Amino acid sequence: MRVALTNFTPEPERTVAAAAKLSTSQLSAAELKETLTPVQIDKLLSHLISAGHLSPFEHASFTFVIDGISRACSHQLVRHRLASYTQQSQRYVAVKSLEYVTPPTIAAKADLKAKYNDMVQQAHKLYTEMVDAGVPAEDARYVLPNAMETKIVMSMNARELMHACSLRLCLKAQWEIVDLFQRIKEEVQKVAPRLGAELQPKCFALGYCNERESCGLFPTLKEIKGGVSTSAQ
Ligand SMILES: Cc1cc2nc3c(=O)[nH]c(=O)nc-3n(C[C@H](O)[C@H](O)[C@H](O)COP(=O)(O)OP(=O)(O)OC[C@H]3O[C@@H](n4cnc5c(N)ncnc54)[C@H](O)[C@@H]3O)c2cc1C
Repeated sequence: MRVALTNFTPEPERTVAAAAKLSTSQLSAAELKETLTPVQIDKLLSHLISAGHLSPFEHASFTFVIDGISRACSHQLVRHRLASYTQQSQRYVAVKSLEYVTPPTIAAKADLKAKYNDMVQQAHKLYTEMVDAGVPAEDARYVLPNAMETKIVMSMNARELMHACSLRLCLKAQWEIVDLFQRIKEEVQKVAPRLGAELQPKCFALGYCNERESCGLFPTLKEIKGGVSTSAQ
């Protein structure tokens, strides 16, 4: 899996803070953007998050080039509706080379891994046979597994990034999409550390785990009420 942040709103944190400050200032957003100090920006962002005033975060947008995730993962990713996506088409691009993802749980079992590899190779062999026989790639692809690698470009604003990370950095989400959002977070942190620090699993904001079972980071409400703490804070 490869994730690269290729474009983003210049000075994303300053942009968000200036937009937020505009609502209570005589100055224009452009003037505010020039004059806000780093400390003021930090305080403003903290206030917006704690007050739940999240719409100013929509002014900062980030574009990621994502390569080598499985179709199983991209299917989960595109469920996040407040983002823009462009994905390599299996209708127009014939799958010539066999590139696929193997989950670690399968890779760890040598006998199953061999069967898994064999199954994927067989599926690709039939796919190639069908394409060579004139079946359109858009139909031949029906035999390809969810394991097939895909490429996707995603643009998401900071508000939706915080929301998606709250769900997908949770260790109860699937390993591949957790891995993807960890890399997305790392990319954002390089250019907007304050914002990047807000990309956290939901338990950080809640102060507890709202899944059936906790990963151990925070206790569930049931555990808190029952007086059992699994917290590793
Ligand atoms: C661990 C996990 C397991 C999952 N399992 C399943 C599953 O078994 N089956 C399944 O189908 N999905 C599953 N999903 C996907 C999940 O149901 C959501 O579709 C996905 O996480 C997108 O999140 P979202 O709907 O909160 O928001 P996004 O699409 O990211 O939108 C952000 C927010 O905008 C608002 N919003 C967006 N669109 C609308 C709208 N049309 N109307 C009103 N408000 C809107 C909501 O407040 C929403 O939270 C799973 C997700 C996770 C994280």
